[in-house]
Amino acid sequence: MQPLKLIKYSDPKLKKPCTLVRRQSNWDEIRQLIKLMYKTMHVYRGFGLSAPQVGVSLRIIVVDDQGGNKYAMINPEIVSFDEKIDQEETCISYPGVTGYTKRYNKIVVSYLDLDAKQQKIQVKGHISALIQHEIDHLDGISYTNRMSKLHSDKINKKMKKKYGF
Ligand SMILES: [Zn+2]
Repeated sequence: MQPLKLIKYSDPKLKKPCTLVRRQSNWDEIRQLIKLMYKTMHVYRGFGLSAPQVGVSLRIIVVDDQGGNKYAMINPEIVSFDEKIDQEETCISYPGVTGYTKRYNKIVVSYLDLDAKQQKIQVKGHISALIQHEIDHLDGISYTNRMSKLHSDKINKKMKKKYGF
């Protein structure tokens, strides 16, 4: 099984809001896509990946909490949250750089699982930040959009220097 191809960080597809997965969608295809997303996430040594990062404009994310739990979330939605804290983050679409953002410490997220069943979990800390980061991708928001202009300019400059685009 080959991993999926990541689109470039500057691709306009990463700035476009994704559409909801419908109940009448082909769920076998959705499950196959998710399998490939997990594979891609691991090949690129990430702990989270969203469908738009592989060029698919659907509201699907996968995350790994680094504690033995993996979640595939379809149409994820943050339904409650508490205060924001500083987070250190990386993004598969911005290889080799680290950024700093503010994220809710604790969130409750509802989503559909692989069987189209509604689920709801409460998470906090790193995994909470990760889920917020991936949901942002579904809304066309990259983590650089969550930083100060100075900081995001620095990251974009670094990317240009490193990859020439
Ligand atoms: Zn990302």
